[in-house]
Amino acid sequence: MIHELDGKVKELVELLRQSGKCVVLTGAGVSVESGIPDFRGPEGTWKTYDPAISTASSFVLKPHQFWFFAMQFVGPLMRAEPNPAHQALAELEKMGHVTCVITQNIDGLHQKAGSKNVIELHGTAWRSVCVNCGKKYSFQYVMDQMVPMCSLVPRCMECGYILKPDATLFFEEIPQQLYQQCLDELNHCDLLIVVGSTLLVEPSGSFPEMVKKLGGKIVIINLEKTWFDENSDIVINGKATEVLTQILQEMKK
Ligand code: NAD
Repeated sequence: MIHELDGKVKELVELLRQSGKCVVLTGAGVSVESGIPDFRGPEGTWKTYDPAISTASSFVLKPHQFWFFAMQFVGPLMRAEPNPAHQALAELEKMGHVTCVITQNIDGLHQKAGSKNVIELHGTAWRSVCVNCGKKYSFQYVMDQMVPMCSLVPRCMECGYILKPDATLFFEEIPQQLYQQCLDELNHCDLLIVVGSTLLVEPSGSFPEMVKKLGGKIVIINLEKTWFDENSDIVINGKATEVLTQILQEMKK
């Protein structure tokens, strides 16, 4: 399998060597090999659950149902360690070849692998926020409420309102400042590498088109086809860990 990839990996390595500023956009696929399921991949969460459960309106109407759903991911999240794809991206940043990782993921694995310039576009699962007063709470606080006390929803200790993970739900707006940070990085990049995303979630689904219009090159590394493949400069269909490990090895030569 990896031999079939050789040619494309070499092309990508050439692009990386020529690039003045490379930004990487990661989706849920980059963390699948760390044991966290994606949403729309071959074994994704939406094969079992209705995506409506994760919308902002569903959270407001049925917070107990939302937190029951969210608790299914606590085990995989707590067990997950960065995989060779996260590690390769951190190493490429250290070597000066990647300037920024914009991630749709909320698992914190890029930072755990050592990446420094990470924009968490959809927030983080490791923090929760009171929907009323905005007080932030640690993951541990939520676990202490949910697990031993068997609560249906975690609550704010100040005002008693419900807590929500400090992550963006479907149909919720991305904080303007985070979006602007992404634009600042993308406006100046000449290479965008997308890893493990269907590119079906906005606003990041439009980032490749944005960069392409500004004259940058686009590379897609994904297990399956994406809607942007035919407009991309290189498409590598493979596992993120295998492809990125191979790229790192080539870059070190
Ligand atoms: P997605 O679920 O829509 O798509 C994931 C893509 O990754 C699929 O096309 C799949 O084929 C591909 N993939 C699966 N395993 C792969 C592998 N080993 N190597 C390469 N590609 C692989 O993901 P998305 O575009 O990120 O959108 C999902 C949304 O859900 C995002 O908003 C994200 O915040 C959230 N999410 C996050 C996590 C996480 O934090 N780890 C997990 C699930 C969902």
